[in-house]
Amino acid sequence: MRLTFLGSGTSFGVPVVGCGCTVCRSSDPRDRRTRSGALVETDGHTLLIDAPPELRLQLVDAGVQRLDAVWITHPHADHLHGLDDLRIFSVRSGRDLDVFLGGEHADEVRRRFAYVFDGEAAPSGTSKPRLRLRAFGPGDDVPVPGGPARPLPVPHGPMTVYGLRIGSLGYVTDGKVLPPPVLESLRGVEVLVLNALWWGDPHPTHFNVEEAVEAARTVGARRTYLTHLTHRQSHDDLERRLPPEVRPAYDGLVVDL
Ligand SMILES: [Zn+2]
Ligand SMILES: [Zn+2]
Ligand SMILES: [Zn+2]
Repeated sequence: MRLTFLGSGTSFGVPVVGCGCTVCRSSDPRDRRTRSGALVETDGHTLLIDAPPELRLQLVDAGVQRLDAVWITHPHADHLHGLDDLRIFSVRSGRDLDVFLGGEHADEVRRRFAYVFDGEAAPSGTSKPRLRLRAFGPGDDVPVPGGPARPLPVPHGPMTVYGLRIGSLGYVTDGKVLPPPVLESLRGVEVLVLNALWWGDPHPTHFNVEEAVEAARTVGARRTYLTHLTHRQSHDDLERRLPPEVRPAYDGLVVDL
């Protein structure tokens, strides 16, 4: 199995528009963080996790030629609004692309992308993505290609975000705690991905770095990667200060499991 971080940044991305801080002006390419998403390749199947606003550029950079399915963790703009960039895959294959998501998020995605899901909307002179929404419940084994995958429901303010366990990988984004059923589902993972914003200042709906390190210790994966990072710390600073089993992700990082 191969995990590729397409984007490792928080919702504003890094550099932040108009910001002159040292991280936003850094010459280290690992300090340029597009919005968060990833690719999981298993047994010849390719699953995209989330559709961030920079999706097209991320897919070009990663050399992605085809996708078998998409997993949307939750309908926040930084995880969803690149959805139109999926158009190329159905244009090329002539088939619908399966999009797996939590049952309570499906209506919101349909509303946000009415032109995609309205069967009557047939634009002339252009194409639209052909997507088939496949809603799952929190306890389901989800039949993603290369799976099954187990949803990892974590609270994110009033919303539930669905990370996933697939094989020996656990992927959790936009969480603040790992509830007991999620810890149970993560038992024995080799590689864990957790969101983390910054050192200090607890945030109401996201892990800060200290909380993510604590959660990583509780799960005990061989290696944990932090993603969804802000401009408040450089990659270099994280590399130096994090414990050896917890590493900062960066755009384009490839992890073989
Ligand atoms: Zn987010
Ligand atoms: Zn900045
Ligand atoms: Zn979010």
